[in-house]
This record gives sequence, structure tokens and C-alpha cells, in this order.
Amino acid sequence: MVGKFKVNTSKRNELIDITNDINAIVKESDVKEGFCLVYCPHTTAGITINEGADPDVKSDILMQLSKVVPEDKGFKHSEGNSDAHIKSSIIGASEIVVVNDGKLVLGTWQKIFFAEFDGPRNRKVVVKVIGD
Ligand code: ZN
Repeated sequence: MVGKFKVNTSKRNELIDITNDINAIVKESDVKEGFCLVYCPHTTAGITINEGADPDVKSDILMQLSKVVPEDKGFKHSEGNSDAHIKSSIIGASEIVVVNDGKLVLGTWQKIFFAEFDGPRNRKVVVKVIGD
């Protein structure tokens, strides 16, 4: 079974906590021991795991990424969103999380985030839970 859900982003750069959506798909899958692949099928967005307790961590990540990859640096890509493509490749399109006792194994402060770099857009997340 492949799980899918939609994420509607509201800003150009945004980290959205999708941990609850992933947990619901893991529960539905009935897999008790295995892995969960969280995949982003977009070229200007990504998936990352980081701290979800202090919202300043999200904004610091986005601020620093924008310093490393500024929006307009004379990129050639005619769509004008090369910064978003580059950030997407830095962050990556997927994460794999261990499933133990039917639950995602995440650290106390860890959350799974959908990373938007060219919003607002209607996005999709693909999830595959594999039992061992
Ligand atoms: Zn583009």
C-alpha cells in the first residue's frame, strides 16, 4: 500500500510539520516492525527531519538556507526559481524512519517536515511503509 496526502503551503519558504499525517498512515498500514519512506515528488520542495519544539529552529534553517542560496543570483533557469531547485537538492526528496511496535522511531524533539521553497503551492507527499 502506498499512502498519499496533500500539503497546501502558504509561503514561498516554509517548513510544515507532517509527523501526524505520517503516523496516521503507519497506523493504517498495520506494519509493526519495518521502515517508513516519506517522499516528496516535487523539484522545488523536500522532506527533512529536525527539531519541532522551538519554532525558531525552523525559521533559522530557512533564513540560513536563503543566505546560502539567494533568490536572484543571475541563475540561467528561465522559470526564475533556481534557488528553490537548489534548496530542494540540499534538503533532499525523502527520509526513511524506522517503525517499531507500530510507531515511528523519532527522537524526543524530532518532527518530520515538508520543506516548501517555491510556495504557495498545492503539494503531495508519498509514503510507503514496509514491514520486515
Ligand atoms: Zn524551475
